[in-house]
Amino acid sequence: MNSYDITTTDVLVVGAGLAGERAAVAAAEAGHNVIILSLIPPRRSHSSAAQGGMQASLGNAAMGKGDNPDVHMYDTVKGSDWGCEQDVARMFVETAPIAVREMAHWGVPWSRVRNEKRMYEGTEIVEDPEKVGLINARNFGGTAKWRTCYTSDGAGHTLLYAMDSIVIKLGITVHDRMEAIELIHDGERCYGVVARSLRDGELHVYIAKTTVIATGGFGRLYAASTNAIINDGGGVAMALNSGVVPLGNMEAIQFHPTGMVPSWILITEGARGEGGHLLDKDGYRFMPDYEPKYKELASRDVVSRRIMQHIRAGHGVESPYGPHVWLDIRHLGEHRINTYLREISTIARTFAGIDPVKELIPVRPTQHYTMGGIRTNKDGKVYGLDNLFSLGESACWDLHGFNRLGGNSLAETVVAGRIVGKKIAEYTNDATLEVKSNLIQEHVNKVSARMDAIRARGKNGENWVDIRKEMQMTLELDVGIFRTGEHLQHAVSKLSDLYERAQNVGLMGGGGQGADPELVNAMRLPGMLKLALTIARGALERKESRGSHFREDYPKRDDENWLKRTLAYWPEGAKLPELKYESITITEIPPGDRGYGESSGKK
Ligand SMILES: Cc1cc2nc3c(=O)[nH]c(=O)nc-3n(C[C@H](O)[C@H](O)[C@H](O)COP(=O)(O)OP(=O)(O)OC[C@H]3O[C@@H](n4cnc5c(N)ncnc54)[C@H](O)[C@@H]3O)c2cc1C
Repeated sequence: MNSYDITTTDVLVVGAGLAGERAAVAAAEAGHNVIILSLIPPRRSHSSAAQGGMQASLGNAAMGKGDNPDVHMYDTVKGSDWGCEQDVARMFVETAPIAVREMAHWGVPWSRVRNEKRMYEGTEIVEDPEKVGLINARNFGGTAKWRTCYTSDGAGHTLLYAMDSIVIKLGITVHDRMEAIELIHDGERCYGVVARSLRDGELHVYIAKTTVIATGGFGRLYAASTNAIINDGGGVAMALNSGVVPLGNMEAIQFHPTGMVPSWILITEGARGEGGHLLDKDGYRFMPDYEPKYKELASRDVVSRRIMQHIRAGHGVESPYGPHVWLDIRHLGEHRINTYLREISTIARTFAGIDPVKELIPVRPTQHYTMGGIRTNKDGKVYGLDNLFSLGESACWDLHGFNRLGGNSLAETVVAGRIVGKKIAEYTNDATLEVKSNLIQEHVNKVSARMDAIRARGKNGENWVDIRKEMQMTLELDVGIFRTGEHLQHAVSKLSDLYERAQNVGLMGGGGQGADPELVNAMRLPGMLKLALTIARGALERKESRGSHFREDYPKRDDENWLKRTLAYWPEGAKLPELKYESITITEIPPGDRGYGESSGKK
């Protein structure tokens, strides 16, 4: 039997990205003892890779004049293709301006309105002298106003560093290189987690009054993703494994129009927000033909589909990595590029040997964000288990519905961190620290048994690398931007086979002792396949097109039958997820047309 120690705390936060840290700060400020677990040192969480910025309707920028939460609300609901919870969206848009200013107070050096004139798409932008020095905003896709507050193109970096400084200031304990792998629960209440140290492989038990999952997105289920390597959905799979917690809208996967070919590192939407263009193999700017009003800054799902449509029509640039289009920012000039887009310039120079001041950047739509996740109510409380909360990209709160607007996710992490963090603090006031010892042992045994079985199979087991690659390619090819019943059915069958094989996974190196990363990866594989199956099955069953979920065989949105959210459960011993549906909360804006050429069938 594996030995383990037990640590107790009031609030246990799994995840040290912006969402987890902001919630931890709220709980600690309310006087609770908080421990954060993280796979890596907090500042290396994926939040720090965010580039373009966060949305808040401050209305300081010349082109943001007249902005307010109502306009932000409309953009968010329309962007979600009416798939979001409107009561959540309302809280979000009202709180975002407070959150962005709070982050300034905590040290984020937001780019400020400057007394400078500049040209944008042939128009001269003249800032209001009264607003000089206030927090500035840039243009982003699918928004009526310039609303995305930024720090050059390194917003995530500055936000996470500032947040982590507050975590340190408050003396919050962080256990990094500690992977939560199993929720301790009795089918009704969550008591904490079983975790495994990535330093030495030892098991640890954390018991808490309240447990919080803020483990981020799971883009790495796909072969080509802008996400960090650690974004493989462990925390979300842990919730699904409980058998009683549902995941919401897993089929809603976002593809960002401009992943750089072939590393798939993100080139921020801010590049188009600053005035960048998309060009085809003939150097022709094609987006105005498809979307005359919004051009390169239609919603992300729309731009991604338009690029792929143009490539399918034979206008892509051939490359050894498949066809792509070009992103052109040369006309913005050296000063603007090196000042406001310096991070992506460095990325292009370092990872592609391209100087964007003089050269074109090869781009193609790439998996980027997961709108779905652990389903919570508007307080962030997880469905199905008491004393468990979730927020940030791992959660389906559900602010984004079927398409998230660029800039709304960083904003979500700090806004949900404030709102849900407060609820966590209140909830914890009345919660008790209790657990039956046999329950701990039962869950530790489960984890130990899985590890022992993998070790015992050793080289005779299935190869986790092969299975993972096949899973990633299946999602990439069959559950991508354009979906059909035939491909989705193929994906479900293929992923089911892989899931079965993953039950017999082994270790190619044979060891599995201590911090062996092979064991870590082999352990994660069945959970990843479960998530992949919730994505594929959800997409197969949803016979309509909404936001990022586009079915070529059902190309229209169908509000009569599908204005509802998918809830995916995985009962103990099941081979496939069970799907249920729930209604969407519509409090203010009834479903309408998004206003893109696409919905009018143009081109
Ligand atoms: C390249 C890129 C650029 C982006 N740019 C923008 C942008 O400009 N604007 C915008 O609004 N959004 C942007 N996004 C999206 C946004 O950055 C993320 O959605 C958001 O930062 C997620 O924050 P989070 O706190 O939920 O998760 P993360 O920041 O991903 O943090 C997850 C944390 O969970 C921990 N963790 C995971 N699993 C476990 C486990 N099993 N046990 C213990 N710890 C665990 C990790 O160690 C990490 O600390 C971007 C995303 C990417 C990938």
